[in-house]
Amino acid sequence: MEPFTIHRARVPSALLYDSPHSGRFYPPDFESNASRPELRCGEDAYVDQLLANAPSLGAHLLVANYPRCYIDVNRGEDDIDAALLAEPWPTALQPTEKSARGLGLIRRFVVPGVEAQARPLTVAAVRGRIERVYRPYHAALDALVKETYDAHGVVWHIDWHSMKSVGNAMTPDGPGARRPDFVVSNAREASASNDVTDILVRYLRGSGYSVTVNDPYLGGVIVRRTGSPPRGIHSVQVEINRALYLDEQRVETTSSAAQLGTNIDGLTRLLVASLPSR
Ligand SMILES: [Zn+2]
Repeated sequence: MEPFTIHRARVPSALLYDSPHSGRFYPPDFESNASRPELRCGEDAYVDQLLANAPSLGAHLLVANYPRCYIDVNRGEDDIDAALLAEPWPTALQPTEKSARGLGLIRRFVVPGVEAQARPLTVAAVRGRIERVYRPYHAALDALVKETYDAHGVVWHIDWHSMKSVGNAMTPDGPGARRPDFVVSNAREASASNDVTDILVRYLRGSGYSVTVNDPYLGGVIVRRTGSPPRGIHSVQVEINRALYLDEQRVETTSSAAQLGTNIDGLTRLLVASLPSR
């Protein structure tokens, strides 16, 4: 399985989408004692399908094929919990608070207390995931950003995710926290200007959704690495509340998914229409 799929825009604009956590190909070398439904609760399930019309509306769409339980492309390469490893890592690791919550580069827990990996991993196994999945995904995103920037002189990149409707012990807002319909993040303007971010926020609120900005999510590795507002490269992270489109226990889309998709299409049209002309 290729690490990603690119759905190219029919008529490309400076708008670029990616869905790094909706992958659902569990490769044979991924061994877990968790059930498939438990594992799938870690996916931003079917976010790629919510964005399916974006290429026909002018946005390239990059989609990860491997699940984040296998390797999380929205983490630093060295954000590894040493407790996952069967042997010492040969260089210094930089585990962040994501690893501490079980959500580092390699996921430790599917949900609190449920281990994702069946056994400790060798260095070679983790490096294999980095080289076959993580780096190709980032290279593909970088190439799309460069292609778009060269063609248009500006890039508006939206990094699409979905979040559990209620937080748990592994989320930054803790167990029982109710989530708004959307969390829009720009790393406090480090990854995108507030002007660009506000276009999304105003559209979503105008569509009747509750929206918070940079709370409880600030924006992950992908938007921080991609965005460069002084150069005109704006990278915004969007988290969709899964209750808007998903049966979270069964990991199946609900009848509400079509309406949400229609509203996202409206946002895509608005963003394309709002892009600065060169
Ligand atoms: Zn995500």
